[in-house]
Amino acid sequence: MNLSISSAFDGGNIRLVAIEGNRIDLEIVNDHQSDFYQWFYFRLTGAEGEPVELRIVNAAGAAYPLGWPGYRACMSYDRDYWERVAETRYEDGVLTIPVTPASNSVWFAYFAPYTMERHHDLIAEAADHPWVEYRSLGQTLDGQEIDYLQIGEGPVQVWLYARQHPGESMAEWWMEGALEKLLDDADPVSRRLLTKATFHIVPNMNPDGSKRGHLRTNAAGVNLNREWHDPSPERSPEVLYVLREMDKIGVDFAMDVHGDEAIPANFLAGFEGIPSFKRSQQDLFDRFSEELVRISPDFQTRQGYEIAKPGQANLSMSTAQLAERFGAVSMTLEMPFKDNDDLPDPDEGWSPDRSRLLARSCLDALHAMIDALPKRR
Ligand code: ZN
Repeated sequence: MNLSISSAFDGGNIRLVAIEGNRIDLEIVNDHQSDFYQWFYFRLTGAEGEPVELRIVNAAGAAYPLGWPGYRACMSYDRDYWERVAETRYEDGVLTIPVTPASNSVWFAYFAPYTMERHHDLIAEAADHPWVEYRSLGQTLDGQEIDYLQIGEGPVQVWLYARQHPGESMAEWWMEGALEKLLDDADPVSRRLLTKATFHIVPNMNPDGSKRGHLRTNAAGVNLNREWHDPSPERSPEVLYVLREMDKIGVDFAMDVHGDEAIPANFLAGFEGIPSFKRSQQDLFDRFSEELVRISPDFQTRQGYEIAKPGQANLSMSTAQLAERFGAVSMTLEMPFKDNDDLPDPDEGWSPDRSRLLARSCLDALHAMIDALPKRR
């Protein structure tokens, strides 16, 4: 056996500790200038037909250790189809992935990666579409563009933005599904939505973290979803430039797309607890949520985060900030790293395809209630 481990590619993250026989000890590398880590993405070569044990030995110190019990690692031979490793186990603080690869070249990841190269393909195709206005809102600390797409001409200002936390790659798979649907000239829901709303889309809020293989932060080790009360060019230009654009245009409806490590379900988090909380604003949030429950068996409202008490909202988070600042119907969508336990898929778990389909359902739900939303223009 000539086993080898590498992660020197777009979004890669792992550190080789030791290879002893068929046992490969690994560590996830923390985000630059931050203690957060949990995203891994690496390649194993030279193991065809050999039973090997990949052991992530620092799993217990990861950002969300509750993410490991019940979790199954993602594995791919062609970097297109990502299957789950059913035998993945978490014990004594170590995540063990036992595999006998069918090829001398195989990739492993926390979730099916959405690389910056794929992001550029997504943006290039969208920007070339006649319905889309592309703009860069500015540059990141590493010198990447903050890509923004505008679609539609209706009076309701809808913002969709994803991947503030770069390791939550399902968020950009969701974006891919949303863009496919919105740009489908045969889709009746999208055709109608684009007359009722203008969509402002930031498919990736954190290109630097995505390229660097971070879990949660940008190039400066800053968690962008704790910057919305006071973003700065030094710490959080990504948030500063997007919020500046929101201030110019306004926000009526906003969806911030994420992934959750621990909870095996799709759920929404809202803006309860903002100082200017209005019942009518909450009713519109609830209406969207009810429509989404009706439309998608992959969505539910029983599991989720604890709801903030009156006045206790965290205004450094985008959902609360946008609800307070604009009176917007604002929400965080969380998708699982594990699976939706109400409708599990033993082969793939939660997956890119299911993330894309959930985005389509979200647009259907928005369509079902959009006439109730206040208009800005
Ligand atoms: Zn997140």
